[in-house]
Amino acid sequence: MHDINTFLPFWEGFSVVTIKPDGDALQIDLTPHTTRLPSCGGCQKPCSTTHEYCERVVRDLPILGRAVRLSVLLRRVGCRDCGKRMENVS
Ligand SMILES: [Zn+2]
Repeated sequence: MHDINTFLPFWEGFSVVTIKPDGDALQIDLTPHTTRLPSCGGCQKPCSTTHEYCERVVRDLPILGRAVRLSVLLRRVGCRDCGKRMENVS
């Protein structure tokens, strides 16, 4: 079986947790690699403090003719320069 993460190379630093059908669509749950330090969404500097996790639902390009919804767990980080910000996603 193929590693599903090869289908989503653009979500660097994230892993696919589950893929489940949702009506005619596919829902894909992504979670950040714990080994990767988040970086600030404002200034892109690495941040070592995580305040909380937020779930964001993002519509993505269809796969195999099915609409795709990505449910992404993002970290809210404490940046020394910007304060609380969502982590940067490449
Ligand atoms: Zn910052």
